[in-house]
Formats: sequence, C-alpha cells, structure tokens
Amino acid sequence: MQLINSKNIPTWIMILPIFGIIITTIFITLTTIYTIKNNFTKEKKIITQEFMSNLKYTTKQRVTLAYNILDSIYKINKKDKYRTIKMMQKVFDKLKWDKKGYVFVFDYKGNTLFHINKYYMTINRWNFKRNGINVIRKLILDALKSPNGVYSKYLAYNPDGRPINKISYLKIYKPLNLIIGSGVYLDYLDKRLVKKQQGYDLLLENIIKKIVFIAIAISLAMIFVMYLLSKQVKHILQLYDKRIKRKQKELFLQANFDNLTSLHNRQHFLFELKEAIQRIKRDQQKIAVLFIDIDHFKEINDSKGHHIGDEVLKIVAKRLKESVRETDIVGRFGGDEFVILINIKSTNEISELVNRILIELKQPIVIEHHQHFVSGSIGISIAPDDSTDLNELIQFADSAMYKSKNDGKDRYNFYNAQMTKDAKERFILKTTLHYALKNNELDIYFQPQIDKEDNLIGAEVLVRWNHPNKGIVSPYHFIPLAIELGIIDKVDLWVIENAIIQHTKWQQKGLKVGILSCNITMYDIEKDRFIDDIKSLIHKHNFNPYYLNLEVTEETIMKNPKKSIAVLNKLKNLGININIDDFGTGYSSLAYLKKLPISKLKIDKSFIKDIPQSKDDMAISKTIIDLAKNLNLEVIAEGVETEIQKKFLFDNGCNYIQGYIYSQPLKIEDFEKKFLLS
Ligand code: C2E
Ligand code: MG
Ligand code: MG
Repeated sequence: MQLINSKNIPTWIMILPIFGIIITTIFITLTTIYTIKNNFTKEKKIITQEFMSNLKYTTKQRVTLAYNILDSIYKINKKDKYRTIKMMQKVFDKLKWDKKGYVFVFDYKGNTLFHINKYYMTINRWNFKRNGINVIRKLILDALKSPNGVYSKYLAYNPDGRPINKISYLKIYKPLNLIIGSGVYLDYLDKRLVKKQQGYDLLLENIIKKIVFIAIAISLAMIFVMYLLSKQVKHILQLYDKRIKRKQKELFLQANFDNLTSLHNRQHFLFELKEAIQRIKRDQQKIAVLFIDIDHFKEINDSKGHHIGDEVLKIVAKRLKESVRETDIVGRFGGDEFVILINIKSTNEISELVNRILIELKQPIVIEHHQHFVSGSIGISIAPDDSTDLNELIQFADSAMYKSKNDGKDRYNFYNAQMTKDAKERFILKTTLHYALKNNELDIYFQPQIDKEDNLIGAEVLVRWNHPNKGIVSPYHFIPLAIELGIIDKVDLWVIENAIIQHTKWQQKGLKVGILSCNITMYDIEKDRFIDDIKSLIHKHNFNPYYLNLEVTEETIMKNPKKSIAVLNKLKNLGININIDDFGTGYSSLAYLKKLPISKLKIDKSFIKDIPQSKDDMAISKTIIDLAKNLNLEVIAEGVETEIQKKFLFDNGCNYIQGYIYSQPLKIEDFEKKFLLS
C-alpha cells in the first residue's frame, strides 16, 4: 500500500467537496423545484376548484333569479307566451348584467330569445358551429338531458372574438319550453392561474438564484477552506515525511553505525569488506584490512571511568577517520578494537599510512583538562595476497595485531603464515590449559637474585607448563591465555603454594634461599577471594610472610591505581612485601607511586639489554634507580646478562640483580644444587 505523503495528495481529494457541493446543489434545486411545482399544482387545483364552485354558484344564482323573474312575468301575463317573452326581454334588458355575467334565453330550436349581444337574437344558431362543434345545439341538448339544471363547458368566443373556455348553467323553463342559461368565461381563472404561474416562476427563479448564489458562496468558502486545509495538511504531511525520513535515517544509522563513535559497526564493516572483495576480484586491485587495538585503553577505562573511556574512543575514532581518505572505511568492532579498509595499489603505501596512524594515536588526549595517553597495536592483512575470504582477512589482521601487542605494542605487523600457526597454537594451548592444573602439568623454576656483594638474597619463582605434546611452554605464551580464560588466580595460587612448600622444605633442610618472589597480576586481585586465599595458604603452611614477595607488573597496577593501592595494602597488611615488576613500561604516575605500599622497583629487562650501547637506556635505568632512592625504595634489575651491565647497575646504586649472568630460571633440584648447596 502506498502511503499518502505531501507529494502525492491527489487533487481530487481537494476537488471532492466541491463536487459534493455541486451534486448537493443540483439535488436541492431539483427537490425545491419539485416541491414548489407540486405545491403549485395543488394550489392551482384548489384555485380552480374554488373558482369553479364560486362561478357555478353565481351562474346558478343568476339563472335561478332569471327563472323566478320569468315565472313571475309569465304569471303576471296570464300565461301569454308572446307577452311574457316581450316583457322578459324588457325586464332582462333593464337588469344590469355585465359582460362577464349575464343570462341568455333560448328556445329548443336554437332561437335566442334574450342575449346581451342583440345580434344573436336576430339569428337562429341551431347549426351555428365553433371549432367544429354546434355550441348552441350542445347547450340545448345538455339542458334537455337534465331538466333540473346542468353545467355545460365548451369553447366559446369572448366578446373580443378570442376563443375562450366558457361554462354555463342551463335550466329549462318548462311552461314556455325555454332554456335559461348564464355563462362565465374562464379566462379570469386563466388570468389568475397565469398570474399564479408567473408568481411561481418568479419564486422558482428567486429560489434557484439564491440556491446557486449560496452554492457558489459555499463552494468559494469551501475552496478557501480546502486551500487552507490542504496547506495545513501538506504542512503536517511534510513534517510527518521529515519525521519518517529522520526515523529511517536513525534506524539505518543504528543498524549500521556505531552509536558512540559513528563509525561503521562490525556488521556494516563486514558488508563493505565483502563488497570490496568482490570488486577487487573484478578490477584486479588490492585492499588492506587494518586491525587496530588501542593499548592502555582498559587502564583508562577502569581507572578513570567509562565516561572518560568513551571520550577517548571518540577521539581515537576521529583521529583514525582523519588519517585515511574519505573513501576508506573505518569501523569499530566493539570495545577498543577498530578496523580500517583501504584501497591500495601496492603494499608500500600502507607502511606510511600506518606510521601516520601510530603517531596520531600517541598524541595526548585531553579530556576535562587532563591528558591521557594511548597507542595502537596494528595488524594488517592484504587481499588478494593473503586471502580473499572475508573471515580470513579479519582473522589474519587480528593475528598480526596480536603479534604487535606481544612484541611490545605501539607498532604494526603485516600478516604472515607463521601468525596463523601461532594463532592455532594459541587455540590448542587455550583449550588444553584447563587440564594443566588438574593433570599437574605445571612446574616452578627459580632464578636467583643477587646483591652487590654477590650474596643470594632470594629467587624469582617462574612457572612453566610441561605440556604433554608440546614440551615446556613459556609463561609468555600461556599466562595471557590463563588471563583470558579467567583462571590466572588458580595458576598463581598454585605457584605461590608450591613456592611456600619448597621454601619450607629448604628451610627444614637448613638451606637458606631468602625471599621468594612470585608473580601475580591485577586480574588475580580483581577476584574477591584472592587475598583470603593467600591468607589461608600462609596459615595452612604456617609460613612466615616475610619470605614471600609478590611482583605485580607496573602495567597492571596502573590499570586501576586506586583499586591497586587498596588491595595491595591488604596484602602488605598480611606481612607480604610487594614490588613493581617491569618498571618503566607501564606509564606510572608519580603521584600513585608514592601511595603504593611497595618496597622495591624492578627495572624492566628491555632497558637493560642494550646497555651499554644505548645511552638512552642507561639514562632511563639510572633515572629509575634515582627515583627509587628518592621514594625510599629498593631497586632490582632483571635481564642482566653481561658484566658491563652488572657493573653499570651496581655502580649507579642498584641494590639487586637477576639475569642470565648468574643463571637462567632453574628446576628445583638444579637451583638447589647450584645456589643452595654450594
Ligand atoms: P617477569 O616476571 O618479568 O620475569 C622475568 C622474565 O625474564 C622471565 O621469563 C625470565 O626467564 C626472563 N629472564 C630472566 N633473566 C633474563 C635474562 O638475562 N635475559 C632474558 N632475555 N630474559 C631473562 P619467563 O620465565 O619466561 O616469564 C615470563 C613472564 O611470565 C614473567 O616476566 C612474568 O610476567 C610471567 N610469569 C612467569 N611466571 C608467572 C606466574 O607464576 N604468574 C604470573 N602471573 N606470571 C608469571
Ligand atoms: Mg616477575
Ligand atoms: Mg619482569
């Protein structure tokens, strides 16, 4: 069904009322004419009836009078016919008859014995014909048929000679065989009727004029009203049209675009990508899919609140949109994952674009007068080089992005086949990780921590997964998977408990290992039971918490510093020491650093590995040491591999060192042999 809108209001809708008025007018006019005509006919009938009865009455009266006079004369003249007739003529002459009402007297043979027109008295009119009718003969015969008096109607001529209807009353005067009659011309009635007719015509004309006038007036008024009304209706429909269009647009946007950033949503992006794949198959062109994950977004979102997180996403979306051409498609897959679809001629042009995007993303984001910093990890897949399958292109770009994340974020990677292998590997690990704990496949390794005087002060406890098929799997590979699976707390508690057990065993053997550092993440701490579980472990094994140190990476602490401060304080209250792991990589804020209940900073190995070649790294390491001193904290450096590095660190005030220079992480027995028994 087609909806009426402002453009298709049919004209007939506006003409319809006028058409209605015309029909109504015609109907009213016809009904009025009929009613008036009907009334007039009735009236005419009544008038005629009245007239006729009136007229009959007067003619009859006149004849009766004449009859009585004649009878008296007859009696006076002692029945002498001749004298009677003479006297009657005289008397009747004397009587003032007018032309419209007089009496006439015939004998049975057609002789006129009295008439107002004396000429008739000289002729016999028995055979007198008018319009083919023997008028006098008809009157005589009518009278003879009804001796007690009769009315007779006939066509006569008035005194002017005009043919005219006439009605006469006739009565026989038996004694003399005479017929006395008196007639009346009906033209008077006709005149009255004509007058009535004229009145009727005038009335009709007036009424029709009025009706037509009223109809025209109503039509004009109606046209005017319809005009105003149609204008109003048009206006309303236009508003309605606009509203429908706006709603349609809204629905389209809702269905295809992301509410927050106005970028294409996942569904629409995939649709565009599908179209683009079809196009390049025809046109032999190339497209690139960029998968972008925003680094450090979760920290901002968790610590600053969702409204700030949303603003960050909006700004990131704007920057991405501005970094590409108008024709390129930028979408948001949800959370902090963005995708870009670009048409390219060769792969070389992508590097330039991606570098530009990385620089753009790193620019400070100012919201409510505060600066926030993010960066991007980007993965790129190319069609048709990598694949022409929609899902594969996304999956490949995602794998490449994953690699960028793992390589240290704020970078990009083109997809390569190894990434698919890695992704598959990850998938296998992820699905089998559940059984690692249950099947006792986890193991702990120890890496010594040494002070300036070469004394063992403790060891870092590092987990390994003895995979039944894959052999030893690095925590770099499976810890992120444990986080994704939400079982990281179980892994860490298992490591801590086994470290406690091993420490106790060594203590019982009289071997001094010092403080054991176990790694935990903020994802552990987010579990409400985590602190209680640690407390229970300490009680269960009657362990002195002094010998337990927990390492939390700077990055995870800074995801939600306020919460970290609160939770780490609870751990501290249990008597456990805490240090920040991988320091220098997680954008610590000095303000929070001061409030955190920590005793040690651990310089990230990325700042150590290029000493002495990198002057920057040397400067950073030294700055971290100075910062720690200023905050009254101890410093440990990880990843120390060379004597030069060791010397540089100790010379600059670093308290402890950990790294391959002493040993790789070792199995219990090896560690015991190498560091506790010797
Ligand atoms: P991390 O806590 O920073 O541990 C130091 C990493 O550096 C260890 O890797 C260690 O083997 C390695 N390393 C030590 N000395 C050197 C050196 O001289 N050169 C180089 N290149 N590397 C060195 P590992 O054991 O593979 O652990 C990797 C990361 O996995 C750890 O980094 C830690 O963040 C995480 N991790 C390990 N065990 C656990 C655990 O039980 N729980 C949690 N949550 N995370 C763990
Ligand atoms: Mg560590
Ligand atoms: Mg570390």
